[in-house]
Parts: sequence; C-alpha cells; structure tokens
Amino acid sequence: MLTFNNRTALITGAGRGIGKAIAETLAKQGVTVICVSKSAESCGATAAAIIAAGGKAKALAVDVADGAAIAKASEELLKEFPAIDILVNNAGITRDGLLFRMSESDWSDVIGTNLTSCFHWTKLIGRPMTRARWGRIVNIASVSGIMGNAGQANYSAAKAGMIGLTKTLAREFAGRSVTVNAVAPGFIKTDMTTEFVNNPEVSAKILEAVPLKRFGEAADVANITAYLCSEEAGYITGQVFSIDGGMAM
Ligand code: NAP
Repeated sequence: MLTFNNRTALITGAGRGIGKAIAETLAKQGVTVICVSKSAESCGATAAAIIAAGGKAKALAVDVADGAAIAKASEELLKEFPAIDILVNNAGITRDGLLFRMSESDWSDVIGTNLTSCFHWTKLIGRPMTRARWGRIVNIASVSGIMGNAGQANYSAAKAGMIGLTKTLAREFAGRSVTVNAVAPGFIKTDMTTEFVNNPEVSAKILEAVPLKRFGEAADVANITAYLCSEEAGYITGQVFSIDGGMAM
C-alpha cells in the first residue's frame, strides 16, 4: 500500500482505457476520484464501478478541448471539494496522417485536446495546490513525444509539448512541494490502439520495435502513475517515465 492520507484526485479521460485504470487504482488506495471524460456515460460508468467496489468517486462530463468548460467545471469543483490534491492530465485523441495530408483541424484538435487542456487544468487546479503547499501532477505523454512517429506530427508535437510543460512547471512549483512528472506510454492495449493490436500484420511490425515483445496493459501505466501521486514520491519531480516495453531506451 502507498500513503495517500485521504487525498482527492481529478483524472481526465477516466471513462476508458488508461484513465479508467488510473482512477480505479487510486480509488483502491482510498483516494476520492473525480472522473472526467467527454461523455457522461463513460465517466459515469467508471465512477459507478468504483462506488460499487466501495470507493469514493464523482463523474463529470467536460470537453477538455473547451477552455471555458474547464474553467466552469473547476470553479464548481473547487467549491464542492475542500482540496483537489492530485491532477492527472490523461485525456487524449489521435488524428493520424502524414503531414502533407494533415488538415489544420486535425492539427488543432489534437493540440487542443492533448496539450492546451493541460495548460487550463493545471492553471486552475494547480493554483490551490501551490497555496496548500502539497500537490501531485502527472501528465500522460507518449513515446511519440520522445522519439517522434511518422504519421503523428500533431500528436508527437502535443506530447513533446506536454513533456516541456512538465519540466517547466516542475521548476515553477517545486518551492511549494507540488511535483510535476510525465509518464510516456508505448503501445498499450486500449480503444486507442485496438485497430493496430487486432491487425496481425500491423501488430507484428510494431512489436519488432518493442524489446519486451508485447503490448502493455493500462494497469502498467496506472501503477506508476499512482506511485507518482503518492506521499512516497515526494522527492521526484520534472521526470519522464517511459512505460513502453523498452522502445525508447
Ligand atoms: P482511450 O481509450 O481512447 O480513452 C481516451 C479517454 O479520453 C476517454 O475517456 C475519452 O472520453 C477521453 N477524452 C478524449 N477526448 C476528450 C475530450 N475532448 N474531453 C474530455 N475527455 C476526452 O485512450 P487511452 O489509450 O486510454 O489513452 C489515454 C492517454 O494515454 C491519452 O492521452 C493517450 O494519448 C495516451 N497514450 C496512450 C497510448 C496507448 O497505446 N493507448 C500510448 C501512449 C500514450 P470518452 O470516454 O467520453 O470518449
């Protein structure tokens, strides 16, 4: 067991995949989890499952690509909860294509959902954390943000941007005991990768680049994220942890 002292966490993209696994893992450790996703159904299902298992959860549908919606949600949440101690910026989308065929909307949708959302949430939820002089922020980046990936100019730029944001905010918030770290998953089995994982030819090609020769599970990402959110991780900040079967070594 890790130490959490009844903390409260907000996890974006908690309706499915990695975000859902992070919410469930934190809830099992006694953390109250605010599950955000685009659709009310998916975050509602995650929160209901956590409550049914004896945990504490709230569901909130927020489009993280909409800064005004984040501002409204944050204002209401900060009235309802005495503190939001942990923020996991996990919501993300892909709109893949080679650069010459990539539309401006594919570029801006991915930057807005994956990167600008982190700017808004961190500004709003991070400020009370710095005042309280305790906080944990984890940004779910990607191996694509470290190595680049052909066909993902928008996504790689957003994820590399998250890494730069992580390192900068780690420095800005360090004096207030708020840590900021990034986790960079490789290929993890979720709805985002079903298309590749279920295609034998494509998956064989991908696994050639993965030293551990398998896809990761959402729990692999959730476990390290939970650790980085715990009391025990208080001396770790500004770091990027690759959970990728060895791809980016
Ligand atoms: P996923 O299964 O597709 O789930 C994405 C989650 O993000 C969903 O809950 C979705 O909400 C939410 N979301 C998407 N757009 C949103 C928006 N505009 N507003 C609010 N919520 C939104 O994805 P995943 O594989 O778990 O990925 C989670 C994170 O890990 C992403 O940032 C992704 O880039 C990153 N990552 C994943 C992999 C991988 O291999 N899977 C690898 C590297 C990095 P709804 O449920 O309402 O649709």
